[in-house]
Amino acid sequence: MTRKVKVVQGDIVEQKVDAIVNAANKHLGGGTGIDGAIWAGAGVENVRNYLAPYKKNGIKVSEAIITNGGNLQANKIIWTAGPDCRNKNERKSAVHLLTKTYENCIDVAIANKLTSIAFPSISTGVFGFSPKEEAVRIAVETVCCRLQAKNYDMEVSFVAYTVEMKAMYDNALKNFYLKHPESLNNSPTIKKFNSLSSKHSNKLRSKSNQEYEILTNRSNRHVGIGLNESTNNDVNIEKKVKCVLEELKSIGQIKSYSTVKNSQLPSGGTCYNTTIKDSSDNDVTIDITKNGAAAYLRSSYSKSSYITLINIFIRTNDITDPSVIEPTNIPQEQMEMTRDIIIEMVDQYRNEKESASLQGGHISPL
Ligand code: ADP
Repeated sequence: MTRKVKVVQGDIVEQKVDAIVNAANKHLGGGTGIDGAIWAGAGVENVRNYLAPYKKNGIKVSEAIITNGGNLQANKIIWTAGPDCRNKNERKSAVHLLTKTYENCIDVAIANKLTSIAFPSISTGVFGFSPKEEAVRIAVETVCCRLQAKNYDMEVSFVAYTVEMKAMYDNALKNFYLKHPESLNNSPTIKKFNSLSSKHSNKLRSKSNQEYEILTNRSNRHVGIGLNESTNNDVNIEKKVKCVLEELKSIGQIKSYSTVKNSQLPSGGTCYNTTIKDSSDNDVTIDITKNGAAAYLRSSYSKSSYITLINIFIRTNDITDPSVIEPTNIPQEQMEMTRDIIIEMVDQYRNEKESASLQGGHISPL
């Protein structure tokens, strides 16, 4: 199964897919927003002809029908009417109705054997579904779960019209993957991650990367992560480690730390040892090098200790792509959790960096 779900920022009218979904209305008589743009893009005369059979009765809330796409890049248009929250009754059952709307669109797409579909954010414009985050969460969860339940392969694009909307979709998708780890194996990020991990772990071992050895050849309670590709990273690691620890302290991720420059690596690099009290009061001892980080988890493998370790590693190495990270020495039963944390933490770091750059600032003065 190679299902792909992506978030696109742009205009739904321009999507080159088998079908775009139109957030239309029950009368199918044309409207503003997406509806207006799709009528114009497909050609008003074409649309009138396609919709002629529905002219008398229109469609019900959440129903979905399909027509040709006229002058659009997409072959087909799926017409649906999400709940209109200006109407009291529809507002009361808006969550249920919006869920049904997405389900019906997917069902129509499957019935027509489509392989790609683009969704706008139904009901979040004139129809006033609020909050938008909730509408977006429903969209992502319903579409992913429906495809999973029907075991159907389809490329799904969620088309966000604005930057804010795109961030909401990214967040909803991330939360969906965290809540549904069974879908993770199908996500493009995880696929890349898994294939890179296995491809590079052999390469890394055969290269006998000395820093990597230092991180892993201790007791089996010493868990670590490293870069699966060598970098030209010639940062001042000492300065960087301190900045990152301060940063994590300031956001409450760790309570306190002590840093000791404790050993010279065979490669000539330095390994810093720091003992950290994490947010759950666990003491975690972490070794940090230019390309890796490892923790000796004294008491238990607690999730917060993993989060601290991974966060430090991501920030010291400025990692914005989870697939370059190689977990090492992680017990099998904790691999899934480790990967989830890596993805979540990289995403969080990337978002922080993006919002810092939007505000003209920069994260960690390194
Ligand atoms: P509804 O009537 O279902 O609320 P609207 O067309 O008013 O539908 O808007 C739904 C959402 O689509 C809004 O969040 C709006 O910002 C967004 N939107 C409007 N035009 C476009 C477009 N051309 N492509 C993608 N999204 C759009």
